Amino acid sequence: MPIPALIVPLMDEKALRLLWDDDQISTYPFPYLRGWCPCAGCQGHDGERQFIKVENPQLATIKPVGNYALNLGWSDGHDTGIYSFEYLRTLSDQVAEFNATTTER
Ligand SMILES: [Zn+2]
Repeated sequence: MPIPALIVPLMDEKALRLLWDDDQISTYPFPYLRGWCPCAGCQGHDGERQFIKVENPQLATIKPVGNYALNLGWSDGHDTGIYSFEYLRTLSDQVAEFNATTTER
């Protein structure tokens, strides 16, 4: 499993950039990352992933969890999301789709 070699918050662009140790570069807009928060409070227990829409979220804290995940805290005080590297790679694969739908509006 690739791991992020470098974690770069881009506060002006409101996005988080990860440089992975297999040379992939992922850039996640904050609303996208916040929206897919994996915690039980956001996702419930019915198994289907839900997107939580938050207006203009800002990334407040980034904490490594072991060597498998990042704990991201947000400006709305929400900090229970543990984003596993595997999950972040999945989100990375889908971010282009998200960007396409948000720029259309
Ligand atoms: Zn959450």
